[in-house]
Amino acid sequence: MKSRKAEILYSVYSLLQYHQGIGVTDYPLGGAVTSFLEAADATQLVGPDIREIPQESQNLQNIEDVPPTRRTSITYEGIAGEVCSCTGCVLHAKRLSVVPGVGSTRHPKLLIVGGWLVEEQGDSLPEGSIFGGEEDGMVSRMLAAIHLSPEEAFITNVVKCTIPGDCHPDHENINTCFSFLKQQIQVLKPEIICTMGIVAAKALVKNSQSLSQLRGKLYSFTLSERETIPVIPTYHPTFLLANPEFKRATWEDLQIIAKYLKLEKDK
Ligand code: SF4
Repeated sequence: MKSRKAEILYSVYSLLQYHQGIGVTDYPLGGAVTSFLEAADATQLVGPDIREIPQESQNLQNIEDVPPTRRTSITYEGIAGEVCSCTGCVLHAKRLSVVPGVGSTRHPKLLIVGGWLVEEQGDSLPEGSIFGGEEDGMVSRMLAAIHLSPEEAFITNVVKCTIPGDCHPDHENINTCFSFLKQQIQVLKPEIICTMGIVAAKALVKNSQSLSQLRGKLYSFTLSERETIPVIPTYHPTFLLANPEFKRATWEDLQIIAKYLKLEKDK
């Protein structure tokens, strides 16, 4: 029978393996990690009981040796399944729902990325809502305006959990969830990405400028040494609903997308 130490070690191994699978390779040295490291004596934890862990689970050091193609292949459905059962950050405890995204999962022309969805008490958001009831309607109209059908786009958020208004994701939560978005981009391979709002712009453009400075230009998101995808930041529909005077600037950004995708005006 496995001892308690072996069970703990096996759980840690499973968690690390899961994190590696979703692309988490670095851990911020927050308070919890520091206290754990101070309190834990690894030499006590990794004692002779390690022999009790099944043989195939002992090759911790060999994970990197396995060619990516021999690891579980990443599919959109696989990522969506992981998102739906994710407990990777503290937000899972407060989430009201979790939405991997909606739209075409086969090389969409456009990937739209927002920050996160807030659901206030009394809201009755339709299932699969990404930015909110009115906001999703606005995104549909934007797509129609540039002659792009909903089947040619995929829409998602950087933070996949829908949370209550009093909950504000921090840098750590955003970083953890960003690994899902990175994998989605790798699998979907959209032709162009449009970030809506500052959270998504900062996550993908990695630039500390304000959104008004960032918008209106194309940037590159690096997928691999040989692959980059153009990114255009613009305003979030929630911001546009409150500040309609910024719709003109967003329309100009949409025109850049239409031009890049060579969308016909009279399609
Ligand atoms: Fe997982 Fe993202 Fe939800 Fe955090 S916000 S629990 S990382 S799905």
